[in-house]
Amino acid sequence: MEYKFKIVEIFNSIEGEGSFIGYPTTFIRLEGCNLRCEWCDTTYSYDNKSFKLLSLKDILKEIKRYKTKKVCITGGEPFLTPNLPFLLINLYKEGYYLIIETNGTIFNEDLEIALREIYPKFYLVVSPKYEVKYIINKFLIKYINEFKFVVDKYISIEDILKYRNLYKVRPLILQPESNKKIFIKKALDLQKELLEFDIEARVIPQCQKFMGVK
Ligand code: SF4
Repeated sequence: MEYKFKIVEIFNSIEGEGSFIGYPTTFIRLEGCNLRCEWCDTTYSYDNKSFKLLSLKDILKEIKRYKTKKVCITGGEPFLTPNLPFLLINLYKEGYYLIIETNGTIFNEDLEIALREIYPKFYLVVSPKYEVKYIINKFLIKYINEFKFVVDKYISIEDILKYRNLYKVRPLILQPESNKKIFIKKALDLQKELLEFDIEARVIPQCQKFMGVK
């Protein structure tokens, strides 16, 4: 049986967020999300109509149009996608380096088996969300490569400090919501406060928006 994936879009651009900023990257946006963040800029990823059903073969055909070796698996919330492990393992076998973005709420045994198989050729970015009080699924924690907190009107230093022991070895990114000045200032203030706890956070806006690219 051929699996079909609900794909909202596949496009080639640069990575505009986090540690891989500036690298040419192909994005695979999967359909569906279990959260509804107030400021979400990809609501079309869970409107249950803006997707196509594509097989692995269709997906590979599309991403092979580009020379890019980095593929970002994003959403929505990619970990909701049935058979995601099959897609991850096959992209890995094709030689792609995977950047996987998740809100950190979902994890299961099949995903764990897939991540073990493709380790270390992936980079898992977790962006904990206010909607769930910044809770991360405890089984996911050991696979996290980077924390990215969106600095919005809700976030406080206590929310960020929930995972304080993990920032020693993993980058902590503060991303001002929608690049708004008020949240750039809040992110810079949080960055200073975090220094008091011996934590060096990076403040990085969404560069793709400054550049006017997707
Ligand atoms: S988790 Fe991400 S995709 Fe889902 S609603 Fe929040 S910002 Fe949007």
